[in-house]
Amino acid sequence: MSDPGEHPDFSVLEGPAPEFTSQVRPGGLPRAGRAVESAADWLADRIEDAATWLATFVRYLPARLLRVGLTLLAAAVGALKLAPGAVRAARPGKGEAKVFLRQCARRGAFRTVQLALEALDLIGAPEIFAFVWRMITRTSPLTGEEIAAASLVLGPRALRYQDVRVAEGGVLRWIFKRNGGRAFATFHTVNLPEQGHHQRSNVEIVVHEIIHVYQYERAGSRYFAEALLGQREEGYGYGGPEGLAAAAARGKRMADFNREQQAQIAQDYLAALRLRAPIDPFEPFIEQLRQGWI
Ligand SMILES: [Zn+2]
Repeated sequence: MSDPGEHPDFSVLEGPAPEFTSQVRPGGLPRAGRAVESAADWLADRIEDAATWLATFVRYLPARLLRVGLTLLAAAVGALKLAPGAVRAARPGKGEAKVFLRQCARRGAFRTVQLALEALDLIGAPEIFAFVWRMITRTSPLTGEEIAAASLVLGPRALRYQDVRVAEGGVLRWIFKRNGGRAFATFHTVNLPEQGHHQRSNVEIVVHEIIHVYQYERAGSRYFAEALLGQREEGYGYGGPEGLAAAAARGKRMADFNREQQAQIAQDYLAALRLRAPIDPFEPFIEQLRQGWI
């Protein structure tokens, strides 16, 4: 934004006030003027954020409505499928009621979390989050190098790279102190620590997080719950290139891997490309990723 350091300091000039031209702007005025300028900058940033919020909200509304519709449909179909089980469980003396109820509770909880996240998407919660997040962290767009690296994996048009923001510093310092300096993605924002293995200079980590942004664009906020579940259950490991070759032979698809494994496969593919190591086992899965079948 503004760089007050570049403007001449008029307080040392004598005689009549200088004329304001395109080269000499009011930004150079002493203290009071600078305070007004930075307040105007702050306000301009907020207006820009609000406009982005509205544009993004409109852009994603149809997809979000469709997702809520599909989830409600899946819940209705699931409830119908449960009916025969309910009849069986209702018969006395078989002890099936407990199993049945536990099954219902698990499926119900899954659908409830999914629906809650989709409802939050529908009211634009990710855009509100980005608006607040930009005020309490330091954000910047992706660099050309980062977009080029992500494009090697996803292709040049898979993602709206210009909408992605990298956040560092601010409230994140507090978070990274507590999570061991591990990068994470929140909707369209890639959050990176300022030090350690996950800092911004590690472009492979940046691309790993961009894959999470891509998952968010394809699936909505539920990617976040799915990634946390993936971390808890199977973790990031997928068996390396040999594991991928074996998975392909069994007919496994990219969509069958959890959200962390998907991001890890993409990260390792990029590392292999950069090292000129063999990439054949990665290729069918990367192709499915590019097609959005995740
Ligand atoms: Zn991850």
